[in-house]
Amino acid sequence: MINIQTDRLNIKPTHKNCWSIFDQQDDTLIGKLFFRNHWFNIILKPQSLRLGVATEASYGLMKAINSEKYMAKSSIPHAQQFLKELGFEPKNKHFEVTIEQLQQPDLYQSLNHKLGIDTEQLNNPKYHTTAQLVDSDVDCFQRPTKLHPKANQAWQSMKQSANKDGVNLQLVSAFRSMGYQAGIIQMKIDQGQILQEILQTNAAPGHSQHHTGCAIDITSDDFEPLSESFENSPAFDWLQNHAADHGFTMSYPRDNDQGIIYEPWHWCYAIR
Ligand SMILES: [Zn+2]
Repeated sequence: MINIQTDRLNIKPTHKNCWSIFDQQDDTLIGKLFFRNHWFNIILKPQSLRLGVATEASYGLMKAINSEKYMAKSSIPHAQQFLKELGFEPKNKHFEVTIEQLQQPDLYQSLNHKLGIDTEQLNNPKYHTTAQLVDSDVDCFQRPTKLHPKANQAWQSMKQSANKDGVNLQLVSAFRSMGYQAGIIQMKIDQGQILQEILQTNAAPGHSQHHTGCAIDITSDDFEPLSESFENSPAFDWLQNHAADHGFTMSYPRDNDQGIIYEPWHWCYAIR
């Protein structure tokens, strides 16, 4: 029985044939893995579904156990898809993979490759996709949003606190997946824009702080979303004085050393 560490997860043996999956960021238990006699099973909490957690945990465990073959059963299309990404092949009534066939899916490389982005040339930092998400507010465009559970809690309390001071805070954008980020860039390419120019305003997949589920873009009544004029709003003034009390800091102040434009609207929660 071994402790396994992947990019985002700590996987610890609980008892024989069973491992618990913890989010490295905040030590929350997010799922369980079972492996016995070549059979393989994974169960995740709802907040960790469809974030690549199953793939990452399964690959990490299978590599560490290093059994000659693995068998899994699932009738759920999404789960079947994830098994295929790992190299599992459909047999009669189950899926099977040998240790040689096992593949580590790499969404980061495949998305960037598809867009023609050379990741070696990117200077801005890389961010992991959060391993947990919950529903948050509808944004100022009436779209549903998601945040890391702890970031959402902090955002709700910050918003209420601002409200008590007569200040209105609204979300413009919260969590964005690597796939969503790739979609934005692809759309601009299709419209005829040049990749180098697009990358000056849109981070490459894997390089947006919004992947963490802790970054939010904020606006307020009567201010245009994602505009520098937000710095003249009472909301911005309030944030500068109180956001830190709620765990939020402005990621990109004027002349930041990350080389990113001034974004008075973009704030990020630090998980403690
Ligand atoms: Zn932002």
